[in-house]
Amino acid sequence: MTDDLAWAAGLFEGEGCITRGRNSLPIIHLAMTDRDVVERFAVVVRHGTIVELAKYRERPHYQRQWRWACQREEHVRDVMARLLPWLGNRRRARWEEILAARAEAVATMIDRVSCSRCGRFFYPDRTQNRRQHFCSVACQREARNETRRAGVVRAAR
Ligand SMILES: [Zn+2]
Repeated sequence: MTDDLAWAAGLFEGEGCITRGRNSLPIIHLAMTDRDVVERFAVVVRHGTIVELAKYRERPHYQRQWRWACQREEHVRDVMARLLPWLGNRRRARWEEILAARAEAVATMIDRVSCSRCGRFFYPDRTQNRRQHFCSVACQREARNETRRAGVVRAAR
């Protein structure tokens, strides 16, 4: 298992990428033309998903590319914690930088709330109406429709 992790870290060192998404959430990914290698990597690190990259498919010398990506914060942290002992200084520094950015984003966020419609927990946007919180535009729209339907039912009585 230790050998596997050392191997995965070596691969990540060469082909991996650490980046951040919305609210500085850490994202890690890795893309290669060898599907079996990407699949083995996913097994070793235990998290993430693999998709085929389609963007070069139209080109004459197209080689199929496979991309492993991990976006769930606890999974990203778990993978990084296990790979870190084998990573070089540049990757470690990058990870520290991403963690600091995430900590700062969390510190400035409004507390987590549950969606007024579906109950899912999320971090609301500062500009959002504070009385009712919706996790998505879809939930907000659906809640509005429900209110409208309820109004129609009342009117029909
Ligand atoms: Zn919702």
